[in-house]
Amino acid sequence: MSTFNLLLLPGDGIGVEVMAEVERLLAFFNKKSKAKFEVTTDLVGGAAIDKYGTPLTDETLAKAKQADAVLFGSVGGPKWDNVPYEIRPEAGLLRLRRELDLFANLRPAICYPALAEASTLKREYVEGLDILILRELTGGTYFGEPKEIVTLENGEKRAVDTTIYTTHEIERIALVAFDLARKRKGKVHSAEKRNVMKTGVLWNQVVTETHKKYGQGVELHHILADNCAMQLVRNPKQFDVIVCDNLFGDILSDEAAMLTGSLGMLPSASLGAPDENGRRKALYEPVHGSAPDIAGQNKANPIATIASFGMALRYSFDMVREADLLDQAISNTLARGLRTADIMQPNMREVGTSEMGSAILEELERLTA
Ligand code: NAD
Repeated sequence: MSTFNLLLLPGDGIGVEVMAEVERLLAFFNKKSKAKFEVTTDLVGGAAIDKYGTPLTDETLAKAKQADAVLFGSVGGPKWDNVPYEIRPEAGLLRLRRELDLFANLRPAICYPALAEASTLKREYVEGLDILILRELTGGTYFGEPKEIVTLENGEKRAVDTTIYTTHEIERIALVAFDLARKRKGKVHSAEKRNVMKTGVLWNQVVTETHKKYGQGVELHHILADNCAMQLVRNPKQFDVIVCDNLFGDILSDEAAMLTGSLGMLPSASLGAPDENGRRKALYEPVHGSAPDIAGQNKANPIATIASFGMALRYSFDMVREADLLDQAISNTLARGLRTADIMQPNMREVGTSEMGSAILEELERLTA
């Protein structure tokens, strides 16, 4: 029996409410599955500022470094809008990402058949869609130096951003892409702009070389990033995993995610380098924030956080079957017509956070009976 160490950081606002639904799923898996989860819960964000005066204590960071995975809710809210910049709630999340060196950001775009009508694309293009955008998160245009605005002698201003990638940075994200594809449909599209950017030329070369050495069983395609953006709305189901740099990934992941609807439905994961046992540091979190407008009212959609836990099952714990069952339980619950307010549609039944969580748990129990 495998034992996994999971750190839960619910944070603030609806983070606490949606994490409570994951805790119920964890209790279920502890009873029903071959794996055992040892769960520790701690404070982060505004809740940690209130108690410790900092959004992430060194002790909590140490626990995150020890954990097999961290599941993060959301942080922030009006109560902490005026705390000093260095200790604002988000600084806790940024420190976690930095200290765990989480360079690979995974954003799936999954379209549950029951929600296909909510997409801006026609049903046949999005129904059953399941793609994963893998974005390099710690290099490229957002971090390269020089990064500045200078005033020229003639009084004009000039702004500079610098895009830098090294072989090592490209190779390690390509390896993640191939690993992920092996747990999915086995196809990777690498998106860059080799026609106009030197970083694109190197990206293309290194991904190709890495694929030759370590890409067994994975089909690799190269695609120009602008064409990729176009193909995502033309025929999104042709993709499985799309890997790209920080800047293109920022844009393509938002584009892909919005093919499928509400913020309350979007999970994410960030992965680090593998340790000597091949285990990667990992943080799983919904894309949404703490939603102060609905916090404490049992209105939040817990699916983004439940699906983030599903990603942890798939990518950190190798529990692919359980992850598939959880996805199926979410899909069945939506097919039964249950909706939280953010995804409400005509003739459906509106439910709160805990009722949605209960319904997904019941479906899971039924599927595993
Ligand atoms: P938000 O994501 O919290 O909310 C945007 C809108 O979407 C709101 O109307 C909210 O009610 C709705 N929404 C979000 N998640 C939902 C869910 N699960 N179910 C139903 N509706 C949902 O973004 P915001 O309003 O810009 O930010 C609120 C606070 O959250 C701010 O303090 C911000 O800094 C913080 N924030 C934190 C994170 C994070 O923790 N990773 C991310 C984004 C924003």
